[in-house]
Amino acid sequence: MLKIGITGGIGSGKTTVCRVFEILGIPVFNADVIAKSIMVTDAFLISSIKREFGEEAYLPNNELNRSYLANKVFNNQEELKKLNSLVHPVTIKAFIDWSLQQKSAYVIKEAAILFESGSYRDCDFVIVVTSPEEIRIKRVKNREGVSEENVRSRMSKQMPEKEKTELADFIIINDDKTAIIPQVLKLNEYFNSISRTTPS
Ligand code: ATP
Repeated sequence: MLKIGITGGIGSGKTTVCRVFEILGIPVFNADVIAKSIMVTDAFLISSIKREFGEEAYLPNNELNRSYLANKVFNNQEELKKLNSLVHPVTIKAFIDWSLQQKSAYVIKEAAILFESGSYRDCDFVIVVTSPEEIRIKRVKNREGVSEENVRSRMSKQMPEKEKTELADFIIINDDKTAIIPQVLKLNEYFNSISRTTPS
């Protein structure tokens, strides 16, 4: 079964594009959502995180102590890398297990840090969703009610969009002028056509 990765910067429209694929019946694995869930359900991962970051990484009710962990990793690339190196292998395994259960021609993995984590290597093709910076800022401000500085600061920690598009196999433009649906339909047709000729 073909595995398609979808990534893009904050507010680019990854989730919006994935929703269109879902409407076409394509299963979508949202790696960021699954990773968050695994961090509170996988006993091995929980104990590894506690070992690296301290028992305080979890609250007494076993919920993640988000503010404590965010403080540790937000401005510290090394600590962030350490956390990702614990979470990623478990998320990758969850994706493999999940994809084996799907019956569609192809599946999609949506991940904000598909390139940074290296998990793009497990995908047959990668789609990057792009959108001008000003539009992305406006969308995230509207969605979360945060300041422009807040969005810019989060953006500055991500891989620049230009680098992402250079690594892409396909690009979906989501700039409020170009319709998403025809772009998705074209890719869906292509993935369906090659999945018929690709052994699963
Ligand atoms: P993040 O990485 O920040 O979670 P994302 O790349 O998944 O973002 P979305 O959540 O899909 O992006 O989109 C960001 C916001 O912009 C959402 O509120 C979404 O509804 C809106 N949005 C995205 N694309 C469009 C569009 N083409 N037209 C109108 N609104 C859009």
